[in-house]
Amino acid sequence: MIEQIQRLLGYPELIHGISTRQGGVSVPPHATLNLGFSRPDDPSAVLANRRRFADRVGFRLDDVILAGQVHGTTVAVVGELQRGRGAIDRETTLPPADGLVTNQPGLVLWANFADCTPLLFFDPVAQAVGVAHAGWQGTVNNIAQVMISTMQAQFGSEPANILVAIGPAIGPCCYEVDQPVIGAVEQAFAEHTSQVLLRQLGKQRPHFDLWAANAHWLEQAGIQPANLIRMNMCTACHHDRFFSHRHERGATGRFAAVIGLREVHHAV
Ligand SMILES: [Zn+2]
Repeated sequence: MIEQIQRLLGYPELIHGISTRQGGVSVPPHATLNLGFSRPDDPSAVLANRRRFADRVGFRLDDVILAGQVHGTTVAVVGELQRGRGAIDRETTLPPADGLVTNQPGLVLWANFADCTPLLFFDPVAQAVGVAHAGWQGTVNNIAQVMISTMQAQFGSEPANILVAIGPAIGPCCYEVDQPVIGAVEQAFAEHTSQVLLRQLGKQRPHFDLWAANAHWLEQAGIQPANLIRMNMCTACHHDRFFSHRHERGATGRFAAVIGLREVHHAV
């Protein structure tokens, strides 16, 4: 039901997890652990799935915060006032923001995925966390940089201290792209970089490497290569384990990536 990142498990103050599509109650094509209310799935099934995932990772669904996801680069700084927004229904979801950051313990930032790239951010020095949703648009428009800049401005984070995990997304093995994407990549990156990011596999159209593109931006923003955690997990290759929009031709569910800081209970 969940994937966790070994490196992040080394920080007891951190809550994090990435759901798989297994272990839920939804029926095909959302079988079984669909966590997205945006899908034409039974909302009570989605809610039951969300509760299972929260229980398994170890947080309260009431502490979750979700924003609308629109393939943009808006990053919202959230805190107590947003606690529970979007957690148990779609109506209370925060206005669109494909990135969320906080330094407040006791909140869990949540974003949904089905091929787009999950980016999880953790600054163990400033004690701040973030999650971003980067499809091809968020990737070429560099939401990764906006996340880092926001953490610097809001929490005094030093990029050299921030750990970033690049979660399961459609890989360069499967993400064949056409002209709008190719043109946007060529415009966003230097020529030699876009040649690497647009892999030519035989006679097929180029395959865009979302993982490497985000890693490129993150390193440019000052993230240490040693602090970049690459899962290298392709959602389309592993469509039995993750929801894949491309593999299932749009009719599929959503898996989640979540991150938060635990509330510390001081001894008296
Ligand atoms: Zn693949």
